[in-house]
Amino acid sequence: MGDEAKRVQIPYTITVRDLAKLLQSNSIQVMRILMANGVMANINQLVDFDTAAIVASEMGIEAVPESKEQVEEFKETGDVPLWRQIINKEDPKSLIPRPPVVTILGHVDHGKTSLLDAIRHTNVAVGEAGGITQHIGAYQIENKGKLITFLDTPGHAAFSAMRARGAQGADIVVLVVAANDGVMPQTKEAISHAKAAQVPIIVALNKIDRSDANPDLVKKQLSEQGLIPDEWGGNTMVVPVSAKQRIGIDDLMEAILLTAENSEILANPKGKVFGTVIEASIDPKKGVMATLLVQNGTLKMGDVVLAGQSIGKIRAMFDFRGKKIQKAGPSTPVQIMGLTEVPTAGDIFQVYASEKEARAVVENAKNEAALKSSTPKATLEELFAKFKAGEAKELNLIIKTDVNGSLEPIINSINDLSKEGEIKINILHAEAGNISENDVMLASASHGVVIGFNVQADPVAKKKAENEGVSIRIYDIIYRLIEDIEKALKGMLEPEFKETVIGRAEVLTTFSISKVGTIAGCRVKEGDIRRNCKVHVKRGNEIIFTGEISSLKHEKEDVKEVKTGLDCGIGLKGFEDFKPGDILEAFVLERFGM
Ligand code: GDP
Repeated sequence: MGDEAKRVQIPYTITVRDLAKLLQSNSIQVMRILMANGVMANINQLVDFDTAAIVASEMGIEAVPESKEQVEEFKETGDVPLWRQIINKEDPKSLIPRPPVVTILGHVDHGKTSLLDAIRHTNVAVGEAGGITQHIGAYQIENKGKLITFLDTPGHAAFSAMRARGAQGADIVVLVVAANDGVMPQTKEAISHAKAAQVPIIVALNKIDRSDANPDLVKKQLSEQGLIPDEWGGNTMVVPVSAKQRIGIDDLMEAILLTAENSEILANPKGKVFGTVIEASIDPKKGVMATLLVQNGTLKMGDVVLAGQSIGKIRAMFDFRGKKIQKAGPSTPVQIMGLTEVPTAGDIFQVYASEKEARAVVENAKNEAALKSSTPKATLEELFAKFKAGEAKELNLIIKTDVNGSLEPIINSINDLSKEGEIKINILHAEAGNISENDVMLASASHGVVIGFNVQADPVAKKKAENEGVSIRIYDIIYRLIEDIEKALKGMLEPEFKETVIGRAEVLTTFSISKVGTIAGCRVKEGDIRRNCKVHVKRGNEIIFTGEISSLKHEKEDVKEVKTGLDCGIGLKGFEDFKPGDILEAFVLERFGM
């Protein structure tokens, strides 16, 4: 190794957290060196190569710029969406403006579909409009010589997962709010998603043609959600429109282009080719058809694509009008043929040099996933361990309560806590109602925690939380809730555990052994009994004792475990009063992942 041990490859831009990892140091140390050099950066902040090189050199490490030819795998690491991380790794000099990607969110029936239709018809050249019969989930329009890409994500609740990701894939969110109906639950949820993804919001105040439209009331409601209209001195553009009568559509386009100009919407058309899967399905004749949004590089016919876990060579490629094309640059939606399996909407796709290389990446990812599934993403305790280590300074909470009346006292108390401590608490979403899949998706996207007060989590939400490793904590007393958060902020929260039954044994007889005491002669009826597990002694339906195993023997041998169907002798610490017919239920304590 010699000299090599002191050289580290560093990307063009990198977050403080990732830099610390690369340099095998900790974030605090990196922040200290940065500060000593006059750079105030928080853990999620990006620093450029030159800055990173200074930090490295102070640690006696030589930084070399990462070569682009390298096969890289990207992982969802911090709070920055994956696709942004990849673009961040491009040489800044090669980045040029690309069309903004816009997604339309809003409450059901507020006019998302109508607005998308209106935009399509107002802006697509005459003659072409009729041509777009095919629905591919994304399209581009031209306004005053500039392109805008729209993601047409379905409004149905089942697509909430995709909408959450949609907000992450987009550069701008157009929030549709019906002027006669105002801010509704899904409006709030959309605001939360956009905030979590740090995507700017433009409000389309729809249905202004209606006689019962009340724009001022809606603007007041929006302000209450933190979206203060620019005409009221805030920085949210609120554009009155009527999708039905095609009023204000041009103003909306202008607002989008203006917002785009003020945001850095860039990509390298010659760089690493990747993007997001918008939707995918199987066509009986054509095989797997996938709609992709190219976010960087230029996708070409014949490219080997890895989307999620699906690999394939592009056999045919179409634009959103269904016209065959040979290549597609950044912000272009395309439909491709050639994948072998149906990828999931929201998956990232990348281009690889060969199918072999792509397969190697899939294998790696599978191994990683296996590892990851055993480590929950954001249980409260883990978050707080991070706060303690100085690795996190923000706590994102999603709060659900039984009634609206409970929201205010909880939010106020949490805000008070936030003021006291160094850690910033962001309440991303607070609402009355059971904990839903959407809440869990939001927590997952923002590495947050869901807090419930006198509510339950829907079965779908529970399942999702398990899969995504999201922590849900439910309380029935406000001060306990607040106390837990307070304790947790101080890193004192005890992890919650749940019992998982691993086996049951029936007591057939008992015998007493001098010096040891009474041992239960048992037969294992299901699962297995392990030496290091805990046991409930059940008589009928009643648990009469709970404790640890002191001895476990099978045919006079001390053993670690006894499986179903076998006989064994079990001794418990602190309990001897076994009776034939008692059931010994063995359980282990697992980290309460939810
Ligand atoms: P989505 O559920 O958000 O996609 O809403 P839709 O686009 O399906 O619209 C819901 C209903 O509102 C439909 O009956 C539309 O015709 C109606 N609608 C949509 N936009 C307008 C509008 O600008 N003015 C009026 N009066 N009705 C509208």
